[in-house]
Amino acid sequence: MHHFSYHHNVLCAEQTNLAQLAADVGTPFYAYSTATLVRHYQVIDQSLAALPHVVCYSMKANSNQAVLATLAQWGSGADVVSGGELARALRAGVPAHKIVFSGVGKTPYEIAQALKAGILQFNVESEPELHAINTVAESMGVSAPIALRVNPDVDSESFSEKINTGKADTKFGIPLTDAKKIYAHAASMKNIKIVGVDMHIGSQILSLDPFRAAYQRLRDFVLALRADGHQLTYIDLGGGLGVPYEELHAPYENATANTPQPADLGKLVHEYFGDLGCTMIVEPGRAIVANAGVLVTQVMYIKKTAHKNFIIVDAAMNDLIRPTLYEAYHEIWPVMKNDAAQKNLADVVGPVCETGDFLAQDRMMPDVQAGDFLAVMSAGAYGAVMAGTYNTRPLVPEVMVKGGDWAIIRPRQTVDALIGLDRMPGWLDQG
Ligand SMILES: *Cc1c(COP(=O)(O)O)cnc(C)c1O
Repeated sequence: MHHFSYHHNVLCAEQTNLAQLAADVGTPFYAYSTATLVRHYQVIDQSLAALPHVVCYSMKANSNQAVLATLAQWGSGADVVSGGELARALRAGVPAHKIVFSGVGKTPYEIAQALKAGILQFNVESEPELHAINTVAESMGVSAPIALRVNPDVDSESFSEKINTGKADTKFGIPLTDAKKIYAHAASMKNIKIVGVDMHIGSQILSLDPFRAAYQRLRDFVLALRADGHQLTYIDLGGGLGVPYEELHAPYENATANTPQPADLGKLVHEYFGDLGCTMIVEPGRAIVANAGVLVTQVMYIKKTAHKNFIIVDAAMNDLIRPTLYEAYHEIWPVMKNDAAQKNLADVVGPVCETGDFLAQDRMMPDVQAGDFLAVMSAGAYGAVMAGTYNTRPLVPEVMVKGGDWAIIRPRQTVDALIGLDRMPGWLDQG
């Protein structure tokens, strides 16, 4: 479900005309739909309504303050993976008691920051990290609430190995076979308080099977921990629910046979964990924001070659790296629709000096002209947050839409501001 659709052949985000928005803001820019964000949050929240639960939005997918504040208003917590994200979450109004801290490389400074804030739990990914947390907590005279992130050795069947995290050969989590011993060790540490167990098996998971396999292993593990006398309050199941990147046209709510629905996953959670009396935590990222955002770009040139046509646009891999990094597919819709337009095979590419700089390859594209606007769909997750300034291309603006209203939630960076980050060493600065 999303709120991008054509009205009189002009693509709108909710009731906001994207052609007009492009004229007002300039391209490229990201646009997010509030209604889609809220709807996705609510669908996930409701899928767990039968159990005590906390939805900890995985903010690495999109960490703009306005996105966080919107979700926080509806009751969302946050899954953070750095001290920077923790600061963002707190600043946007996410209560500390709904924040979990994941990631394999937490620094002592970040650990102290999280202890000071009073977060819900640390998701601990190794034994040395457990020691580090204990040490920092001891120095502060507090107790650190922890869950171990276990690695259930399940193949999440993600389309890209780069986002498959639940197999034994990835850097994530603690193998189930070692985890029991480390829990026993954790229980003996003075400044560690075991509160739960955690896992996250990957991203863009398009079948319930990997979840089912992982839930079975986690359930068995929870029962084994209980038998050992550990008290577990929280079971954190991570994120990873896949979203449709193709066939986004209505009635896509019913046309997603290949995408598991949050409600079905919720049923599975209930089936495997409903009788344990624990509070469930989920960490959805992509499922909330991916289809709540688009990247709007303008066609600059059409370059025709003997092999194929290139549609050269003003957005590039530095603005949206997913196509080249993950071979990800994003639909590209014309902002002004012309059903009569002929379709041609083309690559949609940016101005960056890399062959890998493309947004689409070998795509049947409607006949577009220089000056036309295009919307790269499903760009709300792992879009703006992964942007960089390669080729001295300033970060592009982010716009949030609410009905017919819109606001710039991050202005376009200027070239001056970008150059101004550099400093001259004294020996060059004599002049
Ligand atoms: C990235 C990540 C998530 C979110 O994954 P999505 O596929 O975006 O839902 C959740 N938990 C952890 C620990 C992550 O690293």
